[in-house]
Amino acid sequence: MSQMSSMITVYTGCSIYLSAPRLLLTHLHKRCYNKFTLRCYATSTNLCTHQTPVRVRFAPSPTGMMHLGGLRTALYNYIYAKSCGGKFILRIEDTDQARLMEGAEENIKQILTWTGLLPDEGPSIGGSYGPYTQSQRLEIYDEKINILLKNGSAYRCFCTPQRLNLLRKEALKNRQVPRYDNRCNALTADQIKQKMEAGETYVVRFKLPEDVESFNDLVYGKTRHEIHTVEGDPVLIKSDKYPTYHFANVVDDHMMKITHVLRGMEWLTSTPKHLLLYKAFNWTPPTYAHLPLVMNKDGSKLSKRQGDIFVEKFKDSGYLPEALLNFITFCGSGYEDNKSIKDLNELVQQFCIDKVSTHSATLDMEQLDRINRSHICRNLTDDRQKHKLTTELAFAIQNKLGKRLSTHQHLNVNHDFVLKVLQLRKNHINKLQDLLEYEYLWIEPELSQDHFNNTSEITDEILSLVIKELESCEVFEQDELHQLLTSVASQIHNVKSGVFWKTLRLALSGKKEGPSVKEMLAILGKEESIKRLETAFNLLKPKDK
Ligand code: GLU
Repeated sequence: MSQMSSMITVYTGCSIYLSAPRLLLTHLHKRCYNKFTLRCYATSTNLCTHQTPVRVRFAPSPTGMMHLGGLRTALYNYIYAKSCGGKFILRIEDTDQARLMEGAEENIKQILTWTGLLPDEGPSIGGSYGPYTQSQRLEIYDEKINILLKNGSAYRCFCTPQRLNLLRKEALKNRQVPRYDNRCNALTADQIKQKMEAGETYVVRFKLPEDVESFNDLVYGKTRHEIHTVEGDPVLIKSDKYPTYHFANVVDDHMMKITHVLRGMEWLTSTPKHLLLYKAFNWTPPTYAHLPLVMNKDGSKLSKRQGDIFVEKFKDSGYLPEALLNFITFCGSGYEDNKSIKDLNELVQQFCIDKVSTHSATLDMEQLDRINRSHICRNLTDDRQKHKLTTELAFAIQNKLGKRLSTHQHLNVNHDFVLKVLQLRKNHINKLQDLLEYEYLWIEPELSQDHFNNTSEITDEILSLVIKELESCEVFEQDELHQLLTSVASQIHNVKSGVFWKTLRLALSGKKEGPSVKEMLAILGKEESIKRLETAFNLLKPKDK
């Protein structure tokens, strides 16, 4: 250990050594590694210079719906691959059969499609290194485990769950970290043969070597974790014959020719184990880049139980995928300027792995609305994006309000109208869905005489005069409309200005409160506005005459 290193704390015999100069050691120590020793060196991280084509993978376990943490990992892998002209691969890690969740894999794929993080290879599109779902690769793991059994790097363990449980309890009683005592490593060939012939169930364990080497993480710098001091020999193949995450992950990264592994820093302590496996196989490992933890703004852990971190939820509430991706990079950085509005292409072009910070990435949800609004405004200046936004909004309106229509009502969602609403309201909304609240925009209100509690004569007079003036109005813009209506209001005797505006608002929207009348008129346009005012006028007329 270099004299240059500075020891931060000592808890157990296990050590993790880190060398990223920007590392906030105390923070990291507090959050993640309070059981370990941290040491810090000063080195620099390397950049995107590769001889072989870059191949990265996003390897989710379908044990839950895609959440912001998962999306962050997918995004940074995608960005890294594309910024180096490489390939982005999707691999489904479903070896923990007990934890699989129905619909999770589908959800992950849908979210990748929605966000535009499209894999170059994966379960749905195939590729030269498939299958890309681990449960379909059991024969490969079987073949590979035999290599380790033969070269003495792995052994069969026949310890029963009861024995392992006892070991665990004993350790906890003695205030020690529970670990397997590697007893089956001492079994003779004859003993193993006998147990196998007797049909005893077994797992296959990896003989953890003691000669751990440090590795250079692209984000955290030089890192070392003396894994054998805290762990017993880890299981590679479980008794159900499925591989564990560690084994399948290493075998697949090698078989799929993965050059770079970008994943959450919760895996940092597993990496030495993975590197030892590479060594046991005599394979060259990929380069690792661990991404800092994603936290809530108050420093608490981003929890799936909160329910508000699932990507689907953001999608359904009308956030744009590009805004969500941009938002994620605000916390994880990787950019010279990490506070500007960028679409996915710009995120790829401007990415620099050297700028990924090591301190915990905090998600400030309050920023998401602002970022989304900026993306809406930006997209409205681009023809293709504009069309996409309009179509999406029309679809959302149809979906939410369509079901409620009575027989004589229809939805006003033609492209030009939806676009006009978007243009006029873009600075007042945070997400597309906000526009669904203004129902009057999309559906003609169903009025009854009870809506108008002022006398019919007054309503009649207001509406007929306004209709007349609007018919001859040439410029249907807010300022002009305001001037015109103020002048109409002054021509009607004995009507308080409040009553005048309220009557118009009711006739146009069916609501007593809401945006200004001039704004409603401008958005609805001349034809629709007059139509609505006439409907109200006719509704009240029979009673009068
Ligand atoms: N299946 C692991 C997960 O869902 C992948 C970790 C890795 O990228 O190695 O987090």
